[in-house]
Amino acid sequence: MHTLELRNVSKRFDSLQVLDRIDLKIPQGEFAAIVGPSGCGKSTALRMLAGLETATEGDVLANGAKITGPSPERMMIFQEHGLYPWLTVEKNVAFGLELAKVPKPEAMERINAVLEKVNLKGFNHYFPSQLSGGMRQRVAIARALVMDPDILLLDEPYGALDAMTRLTMQNELIRIWQGTGKTMLLITHDIDEALYLADKVYVMSPRPGQIIHTTHYEAPRPRDRSSEEFVAYRR
Ligand code: ADP
Ligand code: MG
Repeated sequence: MHTLELRNVSKRFDSLQVLDRIDLKIPQGEFAAIVGPSGCGKSTALRMLAGLETATEGDVLANGAKITGPSPERMMIFQEHGLYPWLTVEKNVAFGLELAKVPKPEAMERINAVLEKVNLKGFNHYFPSQLSGGMRQRVAIARALVMDPDILLLDEPYGALDAMTRLTMQNELIRIWQGTGKTMLLITHDIDEALYLADKVYVMSPRPGQIIHTTHYEAPRPRDRSSEEFVAYRR
């Protein structure tokens, strides 16, 4: 049984064929990436795994069961972080917990723990407009992590950030993920990012998206190097 699975999945929007017979199996705890050109159907595939979109053909499964809608077990993080500008950092992170009716003292404990984890300790009462782009993306990650999902689905989370911030955030993401046993699926058009971060990289063709290549890394991987080594490696 796989944590996430696409079985012979195709997707059409009216006459527009976006995905063409995709097969994908992601085991528990793997950090996988899908890379492909803009418009090839990456976000559509991820939205199906998040339960936000249905397949035209084929099956979309999580832990062996067909996905019928969104679940707090599978949290998605978007390129446009999607924070509520009128809510503070704390309130943005608290949103899902309030919906889940988590008691206030437990919610506060979880919010503070997760803000510390993403290096935003003490920023509870800031508004998104008072934060940098990298910090806003950290809040978006905190908002997903606070629900303690088994699976994180990341849609080009660092696409809008400058190169140095992106590198910092990529390394942070690895630190957050390591040792949690969580499954991560990142989609990106940046092949360097995919190769640096993921255990396994799926390459998609231009639309209609098909998996045309799969790369599997053995340790030590680029992400296991120190950041100084990695900067040198990228040059
Ligand atoms: P990617 O994330 O790889 O850039 P997307 O999955 O966002 O690609 O989009 C793939 C194609 O499907 C694009 O041509 C896009 O315009 C189209 N598309 C995505 N969502 C919809 C929709 N809800 N209705 C119609 N067309 C859509
Ligand atoms: Mg996209």
